[in-house]
Amino acid sequence: MKTRSKTNGATATGATETMARQRYAELKQILEDRRRDILSEVQEKMRDVRTDGPNDEGVLDAAESSESDIQDEIEFALIQMKAETLNKIEEALRRVEEGTYGFCFECGEEISEKRLRALPFAVRCKDCEEAREVAAQRERVLSRRVTGFGLDLSH
Ligand SMILES: [Zn+2]
Repeated sequence: MKTRSKTNGATATGATETMARQRYAELKQILEDRRRDILSEVQEKMRDVRTDGPNDEGVLDAAESSESDIQDEIEFALIQMKAETLNKIEEALRRVEEGTYGFCFECGEEISEKRLRALPFAVRCKDCEEAREVAAQRERVLSRRVTGFGLDLSH
């Protein structure tokens, strides 16, 4: 729990810094744990993809082989997603080192600790992220009109 007092002027800086360091250390730990988990997941999946090759089961007919291709593609997409998350974590860890971690990329406001715990690599505060999501959704609607393709999950 973070408490902030506005009454203890000059002495507050030191306390805040100590608190920030503790918070940083804790969040850094969360980030590093998350990174380790994802890394081992990715390594496991990569191993699966490789060992699931046709060599294990001899010669596959066309149908089987395309099915396993699709499976590989799904696995690959998952690995890519994990890799992207890993990048975000690496970036967050870099921001921890720089001392800019935990501040909104858009407005510079401090990102709430609750939000950082849920999303340790968040780069925006809740307000800015929501504004961005609304904008992104508007863009998706627009691009759907153009391409005529897409799933509408709002129904
Ligand atoms: Zn913001």
